[in-house]
Amino acid sequence: MKFFKWLVIGAGPAGILAVGKLLDLGIPEKSILWVDPHFAVGDLGTKWKNVPSNTKIKFFKKFLNSTKSFHYKSCPKNKKLKKKPEETCFLKEIVSPLQWVTKKFLKKINHEKKYIQSLRFKKTKWEFEISKEEKAYAENVILAIGSDPIQKKDLKKKFIPLEIALNPIKLRKKIKSKDKIAVLGSSHSAILVLKNLYELNLDIKIINFYRNPLKFAVEFPSFILHDNTGLKGTTAYWAKQKLLKNIPEKIERIHIQDPTFKNKLKQSNKIIYAIGFQARKITIKGLKKCKYHPKTGIIGPGLFGIGIAFPELISDPFGQKEYNVGLYKFNNYLQKILPLWVGVL
Ligand SMILES: Cc1cc2nc3c(=O)[nH]c(=O)nc-3n(C[C@H](O)[C@H](O)[C@H](O)COP(=O)(O)OP(=O)(O)OC[C@H]3O[C@@H](n4cnc5c(N)ncnc54)[C@H](O)[C@@H]3O)c2cc1C
Repeated sequence: MKFFKWLVIGAGPAGILAVGKLLDLGIPEKSILWVDPHFAVGDLGTKWKNVPSNTKIKFFKKFLNSTKSFHYKSCPKNKKLKKKPEETCFLKEIVSPLQWVTKKFLKKINHEKKYIQSLRFKKTKWEFEISKEEKAYAENVILAIGSDPIQKKDLKKKFIPLEIALNPIKLRKKIKSKDKIAVLGSSHSAILVLKNLYELNLDIKIINFYRNPLKFAVEFPSFILHDNTGLKGTTAYWAKQKLLKNIPEKIERIHIQDPTFKNKLKQSNKIIYAIGFQARKITIKGLKKCKYHPKTGIIGPGLFGIGIAFPELISDPFGQKEYNVGLYKFNNYLQKILPLWVGVL
């Protein structure tokens, strides 16, 4: 029977961080099992590489330097972040050092390339399948399983997944002249999709259906207002120029309560949802109830969550609540709560 003190599920940025922070706390390498089907830096490394970041380089650097076991200082020059601290970058730039850290960890940490379907709580430990024949057990499990975009398949329209819409080269292959494309949402991803479509320079109509008005992040000396929900950097600049000042003819914006909403939606032949993300599911057996606590990361006995699927709930100085999503934010949250999980407070 294989038994591990810690099972980390997911090898996106949050899973890499979880393994790194456990090592930083002195948890023995051999007591950790790390599972992911690809070990390719999660969705960040496989789906969002060509998306411009909404984070400045200085925060990515802080993220890489805050976990000692990453040894970022010894990262080869061609894999290190190159841009200046105040600049933003394409997400592939942060994927590169994280892939390097992953490879180093895989040399010393027990790992399995697979997808874990379910976890069963048995008295004091978690049972899971390593293969069809073999079960293994862990005292503690960290879920770093990421989130999926919320999207509804509309059979009457050609549905373009967000992952494609956020990649200009792949998007170009899905769009034809005279297309009428509905884009739902008004957050960072939605605006990036509008920008990508607009910059294809094709004879198309883009109709943006939105529920919430455009929201911009505002830097105050001690905090950033709408840090997680507001538009930032180049995306914010583009939205101000093209959606607030001189709306180009090919773009139309319609509030979902507008009387023309249903009709306009019917007129479109392609649809892209950019309306948010939901935590991936994993089947939990053997416990009647377990719920993620957004201040401690605890989901159940010996079961914890981190990353985009399990972010910290914070309040800004005006009392507005939002989920804190971003690599450096995951770092700060885990730094705070991991001692609680490990029980060394
Ligand atoms: C479009 C977009 C842009 C973003 N831009 C930024 C940015 O600029 N700056 C920033 O800091 N953050 C950004 N983020 C937020 C965040 O950093 C990323 O979403 C990041 O990928 C989250 O990391 P994660 O490890 O939580 O999840 P993921 O990257 O999704 O990784 C989860 C991993 O878990 C694996 N997994 C899931 N279920 C199982 C299972 N049952 N068994 C085994 N493995 C499993 C998956 O295969 C995957 O490899 C962005 C997010 C999006 C969507």
